[in-house]
Amino acid sequence: MVEKKKVDVNETPVKAKTVAKTKEERHKSAMPQRIIAIVFWLLAFACEIAAILVLNKTLYVGDAQKQMIWLIGLLVADLILVIIGSQFWKKGNDIDPASEKNKAKYFLQNQMGLIVSVICFFPIILLLLNNKDLDKKTKRIVTAVAAVALLIAGLFSADWNPMSEEEYKKTVADYSTTEIYWTRFGHSYHTSKDCPSLSRTTENNLFHGSITEALEAGRNDPCDFCVDQS
Ligand SMILES: [Zn+2]
Repeated sequence: MVEKKKVDVNETPVKAKTVAKTKEERHKSAMPQRIIAIVFWLLAFACEIAAILVLNKTLYVGDAQKQMIWLIGLLVADLILVIIGSQFWKKGNDIDPASEKNKAKYFLQNQMGLIVSVICFFPIILLLLNNKDLDKKTKRIVTAVAAVALLIAGLFSADWNPMSEEEYKKTVADYSTTEIYWTRFGHSYHTSKDCPSLSRTTENNLFHGSITEALEAGRNDPCDFCVDQS
């Protein structure tokens, strides 16, 4: 894990020394992130299975009201677990991106969180829609909860700005001796501390380090103001 350093205004930053890690090293350091992601996703899937069992009353939890509370509770747990898993998965991809050469693998690796979201919500939505046993109100509420959960899970699990292995290598090579800046909430990396887009960033929210540290932090979008994109 790379420790993010805070920028001290009084300190002139030392030239960043980027130790370019090999693909194997990066693959190895991304492995724990990916394993944790899969564990969370499996737990999420288990919540969906439990919800299905409650829905078809294989698992009896009580009257209609109790059944609804259990269904909603399991769907919320499902949602939280999917999203946590996806953040670990994306972190793994930030460290060890997929190559663009294999289009299918590139898509699968980057959008695995989105696929998992569908797996963890779509089956129960179908079962809910086809269920003739639930009372109308419960059916409406639980289906709406599941649909919104699928939407939120998808939004937070999709990788909206994936970087390929090729882009990663080029970026690291281009900025191997440049001190890079990034913020707590943004997706961009900056090559200048005086970048206009950083003017409102407080010291506490500004970090600096090597390009590999910025990319590992998920800051893979070159700033439109300070990064020369020619
Ligand atoms: Zn900038």
